[in-house]
Amino acid sequence: MTEKYTCITCGRKFPKGQGVIVEVGKTILTFHSTRCATKFFKLLIERVENKDIIERAARQLIRELNEQRMKIEEVKRKKI
Ligand SMILES: [Zn+2]
Repeated sequence: MTEKYTCITCGRKFPKGQGVIVEVGKTILTFHSTRCATKFFKLLIERVENKDIIERAARQLIRELNEQRMKIEEVKRKKI
């Protein structure tokens, strides 16, 4: 029998291997679609009182993703 998850945003059931699964400590967040995941995380961020922590993490993540993109572009340029 295949394991089934329930989307915590809309309640829809979906099989393992599909959807979006995010582990936060001991809590597992299960979403049947990226749309449901986005909705949940938007609400979650709104609900967090100490926005400094999220802002700091977000800024760092933006920087890291930017650096990754630049590295990929550099590799592409060298190949040409
Ligand atoms: Zn859903």
